[in-house]
Amino acid sequence: MKRRYFIGTLGGASAAVGMGWVRPSRPKYVFLMIGDGMGVAQVEAAERYARMKYPSRNSRLAMNRLPVRGLTITTEVNGKITDSAAAGTALACGFKTANGILGMDADLANTFPSVAELARDAGREIGLVSSVPVDHATPAAFYAKVPKRGMYYEIDKQLAQSGFAYVAGEPMLGRKKAKGKIPPEQLLENAGYRLVGGRAGFDALKPGGGKVLVEQSMGYALEGRQEISLADFTRKGIELLDGDTGFFMMVEGGKIDWSGHANDLAANIHETLAFDEAVGAALDFCTAHPDESLLIVTADHETGGLQIDAAIPPCMASAIDRQKHASSHYADLVKQWKKTGSVTPDQAYVKLKDAFGFTDLSPESQTRLKQAVSGEMTQTPNTAQSPELQKMYGTKNMAVTSCLHEVAARAGARWTSFKHTDTRVATTAVGPWAKPFGGETDNTDIGKRLIELLG
Ligand SMILES: [Zn+2]
Repeated sequence: MKRRYFIGTLGGASAAVGMGWVRPSRPKYVFLMIGDGMGVAQVEAAERYARMKYPSRNSRLAMNRLPVRGLTITTEVNGKITDSAAAGTALACGFKTANGILGMDADLANTFPSVAELARDAGREIGLVSSVPVDHATPAAFYAKVPKRGMYYEIDKQLAQSGFAYVAGEPMLGRKKAKGKIPPEQLLENAGYRLVGGRAGFDALKPGGGKVLVEQSMGYALEGRQEISLADFTRKGIELLDGDTGFFMMVEGGKIDWSGHANDLAANIHETLAFDEAVGAALDFCTAHPDESLLIVTADHETGGLQIDAAIPPCMASAIDRQKHASSHYADLVKQWKKTGSVTPDQAYVKLKDAFGFTDLSPESQTRLKQAVSGEMTQTPNTAQSPELQKMYGTKNMAVTSCLHEVAARAGARWTSFKHTDTRVATTAVGPWAKPFGGETDNTDIGKRLIELLG
């Protein structure tokens, strides 16, 4: 048996060094934290907001306080803009693949083991944590080998076989694809998993209780109704996984991407801050175990082509705070108004303006919003949008998106896309093994280096 750790009975590293203490050759505790769709501008926008909102706190986000920094290339195997499946595979397995594929090469001829699987085989405890469903692309990249990321039922079957000790996120999507088959939750239970949902069950989880899957709907951090936060998930993972063998934990902030696709800056900022709170929880642990820990924070790609102004508008925080819900809430309202026919386009404009807290719109903004609201309210599946509106709003809800763009403009930012982009993302790290993750890296370098350390 390989000896992996050289942890003696000596406590403090400084005292130990003088007495011939040898740093372990591999980290005992490893965190890989992935902000899905979290570009450099998203991080900057969140930090600007936090600085303005909480001036007395540490002015930098936890992820920006890590000493090793770099930029990471995210493109997929053919050089195209990546999706989360190809990027997740690169980070998890150290290999490029094509969009939509998890844990397999682009020809679907070979499967790749992930760092989580290799670390598990080397005797570590494994944790996977996400703010989106546990079978969504990013977490799935750490255990699934499927040609299509949408094969949720198959992915759930593979999750059941993963043996990972702690998996936490939103409920499995495979349920919807289980018609006539064994339900995914049954598959997990048959494989020895305990399924937990809700705060009480979550709080009751204690070390030594065996494999557990926590399924918890999380909503959006912006709405402030989360029963369990991503940071709670992360702290619980530390509590459950900490032991002699060490652990590898992946934590994903998944709705940074979703709010980027929606061009919803307020939701995006709060998702990034919720993710950073989870980074802070991991950082606290690493700070308490400085000679045995490695923490890496990165992103799989940027979403939304976010640009931010040189200067922060003084009203940035209040512009963000006026929006109380994520975009889907407003889209549902508009859909309802259209369906019932109870609200005219003019009334819809006023209602939406009030819902977003716009009290002082410029004449240009008023015109733009009215045009978009009336476009949305009068549109039927048979009426085509004008090319101008099409360019501005794509297939999104025009009424809501125009309001979201107004919020972004007031906060000193603008979205230039509804899709992913291939801009480099920031990677930061801390710990004795952190240095190779700095400078310019390819996303496969992160997977490869992790596998070297943990495989
Ligand atoms: Zn995306």
